Amino acid sequence: MYPFSYTKVSNTREAVNAGRNGGRYIAGGTTLVDLMRETVEHPETLVDISDLPLREVRVTERGGLRIGALVSMAETAVHSKVRTLFPVISQALELSASAQLRNMATIGGNIMQRTRCTYFRDVSAACNKREPGSGCAALQGVNRTHAILGTSDDCVATHPSDVAVAFAALEAQVHLLGPDGERHVPFADFLLRPGSTPQREQALRRGELITAVEIPALPRPLKSGYLKVRDRQSYEFALTSAAVALHVRGGVIRNAYVAAGGVGTVPWKLPAVEEALVGERPSDRLWAEAAGRAAGGARPLQHNRFKVELLQRTVERQLRTVGDSK
Ligand code: SF4
Repeated sequence: MYPFSYTKVSNTREAVNAGRNGGRYIAGGTTLVDLMRETVEHPETLVDISDLPLREVRVTERGGLRIGALVSMAETAVHSKVRTLFPVISQALELSASAQLRNMATIGGNIMQRTRCTYFRDVSAACNKREPGSGCAALQGVNRTHAILGTSDDCVATHPSDVAVAFAALEAQVHLLGPDGERHVPFADFLLRPGSTPQREQALRRGELITAVEIPALPRPLKSGYLKVRDRQSYEFALTSAAVALHVRGGVIRNAYVAAGGVGTVPWKLPAVEEALVGERPSDRLWAEAAGRAAGGARPLQHNRFKVELLQRTVERQLRTVGDSK
């Protein structure tokens, strides 16, 4: 591990000042400390934000849900309003990591976590994300777990978060505070596809701090849920996953919110699937037809061609599970 300095801040103004001067925010530290130990990351200054007052979950005036950036994954998963209003969020969190990690890791940190690409974590391997311009060992290497959507010639790594898939499906906004004040960024614009700059992963400006994630008020009743497919049933990242929320009234699907994980360089919203669902009556045929659109534009690699069919089947199964539930 490289030497670094450490400072703890007690309010958001101090935090933003420290961030503007190049400090790196840390709260639960469940990703960053690992990466520092492996010398993948070497920040000069850590700014501990764990005392900031960003630990509230509340229903907004409009009926949405605001989750403070420092609420832990575990607290969020069991919160009564999260469970009642958006079970897809609770389920995604409960299928993530271990109980110990969920107790430490925060919502803000979860969406900021870095890829699990093994070459990224191996400092002897070529990796454009870790060292821009060095190449991408995954392209010709073992790429079974890598992305099939949103990839570039420079990077094919997946985003590892489960709850980010739920946030993408539900069209959340990320609340930021920076030197120029507050701003709200749609989740779809917050996490960046790799393009030719895979080292740049979020639309954050210098010094900006995530303060909350807000889910908009969506039409009710809303049924939702999360399905994760992985090599083993615990403490494993998704090969594919699907976050689904449906507003059904009078026997017709009026609104659909669908996204996939484990397949994209960012959580992958599926507008073609949503369009196929809206205005239709739930049926087995509809689930299959809509899910058939899930892998549009996929560019599979040598070892992950199986993800195309697996993604379609994952989405179909979760549409059926949510759509047929009472
Ligand atoms: Fe690095 Fe991305 Fe290639 Fe993995 S896929 S080695 S993170 S550039």
